Amino acid sequence: MNMDYSDILQRLKTSPFRAKFSLDSKDKEYVSKKGMDVIQSHARDFIKLRLAPAKIENDGKQTPMRGHPIFKAQHACACCCRGCLEKWHKIPMGSELTSQEQEYIVGLLMAWVDEKMK
Ligand SMILES: [Zn+2]
Repeated sequence: MNMDYSDILQRLKTSPFRAKFSLDSKDKEYVSKKGMDVIQSHARDFIKLRLAPAKIENDGKQTPMRGHPIFKAQHACACCCRGCLEKWHKIPMGSELTSQEQEYIVGLLMAWVDEKMK
């Protein structure tokens, strides 16, 4: 499934905090070396472990600012915590993310990475 994320990506750019994230040369090298499929599987794992559960102990602090291109994508795309997911993507807090919601998020993160790799 190929969703069109251009509207939400455009909207995220109106936030100075979100817009400041980008991939540095090390991130880009990492993405090129691993390939998009591997990066996508990392994204799936991060979302499943850190964002999908109904209750997250350290919500709001679970996503590092660097260390993996997907962490940066999560901040840039407001998929860093359940609070931001609710505010920006209207995905309510307090219940486990469905597989559809997880795929929406992964797709958005990959669209952002793809844009930054160009
Ligand atoms: Zn957040």
